[in-house]
Amino acid sequence: MPASIANEYPVHLTAPDIGAYKAGNTGVDYITTFDSGKSGPHVMISAVVHGNELCGALALDWLFRLGVRPRSGKLTLAFMNVQAYLSFDPADPTASRFVDEDFNRLWDEATLDGPRDSAELRRARQVRPVVATVDRLLDIHSMQHATGALMLAGPLDKGRRLAEGTGVPELVVMDEGHAAGRRMRDYRDFRDPASKRDALLVECGQHWEKSSETLAKETALRFLLFTGMVDMDFAGPHLGPTPPRQKVVQVTHPVTIKSDHFRFAADYRGLEVIAKAGTVLGHDGDQPVLTPHDDCVLIMPSRRLNRGATAVRLGRFVG
Ligand SMILES: [Zn+2]
Repeated sequence: MPASIANEYPVHLTAPDIGAYKAGNTGVDYITTFDSGKSGPHVMISAVVHGNELCGALALDWLFRLGVRPRSGKLTLAFMNVQAYLSFDPADPTASRFVDEDFNRLWDEATLDGPRDSAELRRARQVRPVVATVDRLLDIHSMQHATGALMLAGPLDKGRRLAEGTGVPELVVMDEGHAAGRRMRDYRDFRDPASKRDALLVECGQHWEKSSETLAKETALRFLLFTGMVDMDFAGPHLGPTPPRQKVVQVTHPVTIKSDHFRFAADYRGLEVIAKAGTVLGHDGDQPVLTPHDDCVLIMPSRRLNRGATAVRLGRFVG
């Protein structure tokens, strides 16, 4: 288990009991595929890649109970790092992010086929055959800080188009991911510009706020509408108001921690816009960390400031 980190946010969500979904129908525990019997894409929504992020589990449980079925193609609903999720404890809510390591830093062939072993690698190897057949993926997450939700669309135009087709949340971030390892949303064809396969990762807001559950459901429904899995008869009664036009941020600089002593200059929460290039954001050991350009947007400053991890991503508005 990762060390707990100080938590200032109350837990307003209740982790749903997902025991009923264990058997599934795919041969992989906690993964269920509904097949329309008609040709069409294989669409997947995944939850609990991080065990302490409850909103995705709540959204999937809700979709199951609504009786969601694809109009064409196949729809898969998948709970990923179930071992970590089942250890969730509201009295120590940060501890269940993972068991041995971050599930979302393992998604390159060398790591998946390599000799290392961990609880997360075992699960990633189990679910990989399913993930490898997915045409459109929505991976639902939440964040440490109570900042605005954002869609991580990856570095390619196809990701931006899928994010814009989904229409929520308001902020779309185009990014390359983390030096510490590849994310599921960047697995194989998802990061190939020549492939039609594509993936999104939505960060729905603070881990345990009610609003993250609401946004997880809204994003899932709009994603299912855009990908043709459901129609307005199904989604309409549950949709929120027409969302505002989205804004797009291109990540220009991931800040990867090089020392054992990284600290920020201020209590950043994310989405701050720093007007001037050369502003000191913090220090990595003795080295100042500076904004590389004017109007620099801070994306998801982390509180897990370990060497090799991403401290924050820096970007600019492009749309
Ligand atoms: Zn996450």
